Amino acid sequence: MSGPLAKSTCLIHPERSAVARCPSCCDFFCGECITEHSGKLICAACLARGSAEREKVKKKRFSFPLAALLQFLVALVLCWTLYYFAGRFLSEIPDEFHDGTIWE
Ligand SMILES: [Zn+2]
Ligand SMILES: [Zn+2]
Repeated sequence: MSGPLAKSTCLIHPERSAVARCPSCCDFFCGECITEHSGKLICAACLARGSAEREKVKKKRFSFPLAALLQFLVALVLCWTLYYFAGRFLSEIPDEFHDGTIWE
């Protein structure tokens, strides 16, 4: 009796018989083409694709704080400008009130 793997050959090396099946792409591979990664069997192509995706995620995470910091600085400058002019405007009003109404 032979298992399903006995009839299968490696996707990269058709002359070699497959020893394992990649759970990610479901293709058969020989012992040279498939490796164990984080306790899971994975072929070289899927391993490369997975690490490329992880690199993208890393770059996204790295660039996020920079954008947030820029937004925070812009918001800070806007708030400071608003409060500065609002403060000047409000500090000038009481004097006019005192001069015009309260002390008369
Ligand atoms: Zn694969
Ligand atoms: Zn192979």
